[in-house]
Amino acid sequence: MSEKRLRIAIQKSGRLSEGSFELLKKCGLTISRGKDKLFGRVRELPIDVLLLRDDDIPAFVADDACDIGIVGENVFEEERLSETHEAPAKEVMRLGFARCQLKLAAPKGWTFDGALMLEGKRIATSYPALTKAWLAREGVSAHVVTMKGSVEVAPRLKIADAVCDIVSTGATLDANGLAPVAMVFESEALLIRNANAFTSEKQEVFEALLTRIKGVITSRDAKYVMMNAPRAAAPAIAEYLPGADAPTILELAGDSDKVAIHAVCRESVFWDTLEELKKLGASAILVLPIEKMMA
Ligand code: ATP
Ligand code: ZN
Repeated sequence: MSEKRLRIAIQKSGRLSEGSFELLKKCGLTISRGKDKLFGRVRELPIDVLLLRDDDIPAFVADDACDIGIVGENVFEEERLSETHEAPAKEVMRLGFARCQLKLAAPKGWTFDGALMLEGKRIATSYPALTKAWLAREGVSAHVVTMKGSVEVAPRLKIADAVCDIVSTGATLDANGLAPVAMVFESEALLIRNANAFTSEKQEVFEALLTRIKGVITSRDAKYVMMNAPRAAAPAIAEYLPGADAPTILELAGDSDKVAIHAVCRESVFWDTLEELKKLGASAILVLPIEKMMA
């Protein structure tokens, strides 16, 4: 592609799209959508957005129709294992949302005692490559029946004995007399890119976007924590603070026994953490959100 604007493919609507739009928004990007709603333009950086079905995203990125994309690892890995592209799209980074699990589910009547039970059985799935890879790892030979949707009805229709499907609450499986018995694949949203080098203009935009995405991801759980503490307790507190670099220690006006401690914690700060800090002698503890962060 010769165009100067970087093209990103994201899911039009569904379980990936909300997180994808939110990520771009947190990167300070606003998207103005065209009339057909399949195409959008970012105002702040030279980026165009293509809104697609998630299943089409890896191929669009591999074929150079888009430069980058956001897709579920399950769909990306399924496409990669199917080897439909000579130069498949490449993973750039994990994005930490749209987490889900591909699980093997069997009729509730089965007492499942390991993958070998599946020998010679028929398994319905929308992820044949991931399912076959798992079966191979488990040393089982079974028949994989590929279905585009409504996989969970396959056992009732006698199309298959078991299924391999994305499970969230398990309610759909339960309603169809099935129960999850084994974990096949764990997935989250990925940022992917075309395997070829970008033009220097696009590379620049890509790097700018990447810096912003990394900033959003690292600041997601990060908090700015402030407290007062006895001077002697400062080393123990600094040691305890979750995911923090060396904290800033400040003198308190009119109190030479105590200091103020300020730190950026990169990991979640829970109520338990605050209790523990209190036990170490901290008082007036404040936990503040961090909006943006850049290394
Ligand atoms: P499309 O119309 O784009 O083809 P779809 O119906 O195939 O959409 P969705 O249900 O929107 O797909 O799921 C998209 C992706 O979101 C999945 O491939 C998976 O990576 C992830 N996902 C699926 N189920 C969940 C869930 N319960 N929670 C979080 N993420 C999920
Ligand atoms: Zn889909």
